[in-house]
Amino acid sequence: MSRDIKKIADTVIASTYKRFPIVITRGSGCMLWDADGKQYIDFVSGIAVCNLGHAHPKVSTAISSQSSRLLHVSNLYYTVPQVELASWLIENSFADRAFFCNSGAEANEAAIKLARKYFREKGDNGRYRIVAMEKSFHGRTMATLSATGQDKIKKGFDPVLEGFDFVPFNDVKALQNSITDATCAVLLEPVQGEGGVRIPDADYLSRVRRLCDEAGVLLIFDEIQTGIGRTGKLFAYEHSGIEPDIMTLAKALANGLPIGAMLAKEYVASAFGPGSHASTFGGTPIVSAAALETLRTLKEEKIVEHCHEMGRYFKQQLEALRARHGAILDVRGIGLLLGMKLKIPGDKFVNACMERGFLINCIQDTILRFIPPLIIEKPQIDALLNCLDELFDQSA
Ligand SMILES: *Cc1c(COP(=O)(O)O)cnc(C)c1O
Repeated sequence: MSRDIKKIADTVIASTYKRFPIVITRGSGCMLWDADGKQYIDFVSGIAVCNLGHAHPKVSTAISSQSSRLLHVSNLYYTVPQVELASWLIENSFADRAFFCNSGAEANEAAIKLARKYFREKGDNGRYRIVAMEKSFHGRTMATLSATGQDKIKKGFDPVLEGFDFVPFNDVKALQNSITDATCAVLLEPVQGEGGVRIPDADYLSRVRRLCDEAGVLLIFDEIQTGIGRTGKLFAYEHSGIEPDIMTLAKALANGLPIGAMLAKEYVASAFGPGSHASTFGGTPIVSAAALETLRTLKEEKIVEHCHEMGRYFKQQLEALRARHGAILDVRGIGLLLGMKLKIPGDKFVNACMERGFLINCIQDTILRFIPPLIIEKPQIDALLNCLDELFDQSA
């Protein structure tokens, strides 16, 4: 069956992804199974999406019970799950208001629009530019690819949207020099995910906050990958001691159902009024019920604390691996957003791991990234480490 599926897929699905040659049919916790019954431990989580693991019973129940009550009515009306979800997010973050949409790119679109609108509402028409970071990733729509600091993402789609300036991540001086009277916001990921699991210096984010305050520009954090417990805090900004004005979320927010959110302080959020921005499916009851259950479970079962603990253990063990193998240049990351930079391309390790029943992924050609469900346990981590140890021995 899997061979047929692959063959059909390659003729009917747009070839925007290079897919691995397996058909995944079922998941439970940190485990996945393919159409041939082969079992895998998942260190990808659908790219930092299924933070509670696959088919979490509480999330599945929330989805099925909401599905028999109400799927969708549009934002012309109030619905209970959306209000409860917004309230939870507001109670557990710096923000005062939430706007819901369906993906990370859409959340960033909303943030970009809100930053511009904020200054228009103040009567300042000259501030529209956004300073973003080199090697950043903010999405694939026209505005968000324009905000992304990687040429390969923009290639072939010129002209990109006007108004984005780029500086190296973790470089305060460069940022200071690039903020002008035309700047409305600084946009960054507190930890760069797709760009290579890059962690800034300990004081970088607070210095960015100070620069923004001095210049009177907004600070936007893209926490689409780092949020919802991934770094060992509910949101990565909590590590820095400062708060952004706007934050975007998506990926893990509903543990696998599509959702995006833009959270903001009241003084910024109030720049949006009825008709300013909209989304048909944004915060629809079914997805809101799934997100609310995801967040409640994360808290009740102390999953963020578990992530912190497992992340520390995993990183230590990766460091030990690096000490044994010359092909590993460095280990980076925080919580369960971990990476390992190699001297050589990472593809063959991804393929060899898959063969042995482990899903990992490779970014920027040479960086192996480990983003398992946050419920991962030590024996599962140890199993992957043993596998990697053997593979590096073989490749030496
Ligand atoms: C995945 C990601 C996005 C894009 O999210 P989509 O849901 O794919 O549109 C944006 N920013 C960051 C940091 C991401 O990791």
